[in-house]
Amino acid sequence: MIRTFVGLGSNLGDREAQIRRAVDELAKLPRTTMAHVSSLYDTDPVGDIEQPPFLNAVAWLETQLTPRELLWNLLLIEQRLGRVRAQKWGPRTIDLDILFYGVSIVEEADLVVPHPEAHQRAFVLAPLAELDPDFVHPVTKLSIGKMLRRLKTDRAVRKGGRIWT
Ligand code: ATP
Ligand code: CA
Ligand code: CA
Repeated sequence: MIRTFVGLGSNLGDREAQIRRAVDELAKLPRTTMAHVSSLYDTDPVGDIEQPPFLNAVAWLETQLTPRELLWNLLLIEQRLGRVRAQKWGPRTIDLDILFYGVSIVEEADLVVPHPEAHQRAFVLAPLAELDPDFVHPVTKLSIGKMLRRLKTDRAVRKGGRIWT
């Protein structure tokens, strides 16, 4: 089994319900076990598009799926939860990103792991630090905790609600 971290985000509709539904779907993936899910974080959107705040979380999965099989499954879950790709970085009902896949490094046109922005996003690092602060980023070689402390802005706000026990 490979340890993988999946980032969840939603800023359209009932954000918490959608995150919960996505967590339920992740827990049902074949050849995969859900180990932990972080609490929920309220976060301001990044980028230039005017849009509502996000709710974010990170799920820790143990899987035998390949990175590509995992990506296909994440895209399917996004479709099932009604995601419409309208605008790059625009508002979405649900967004599922592969943040890390063990210590593997994947660099393909449609799949880059570790996620290229993971190390500079508080809404990724803060929930990850809750799950495994000592996990070392295979590219930057820094721990999650260290990368989080290095961020000048920590705008992820912990909401606290647990969605998986
Ligand atoms: P960002 O990647 O900056 O968080 P985004 O999540 O809004 O932006 P999307 O529109 O959801 O971007 O994804 C576009 C494509 O990114 C997906 O169809 C997928 O092929 C590709 N992709 C590349 N690497 C990854 C990854 N690690 N996890 C999920 N999708 C990825
Ligand atoms: Ca994303
Ligand atoms: Ca995405």
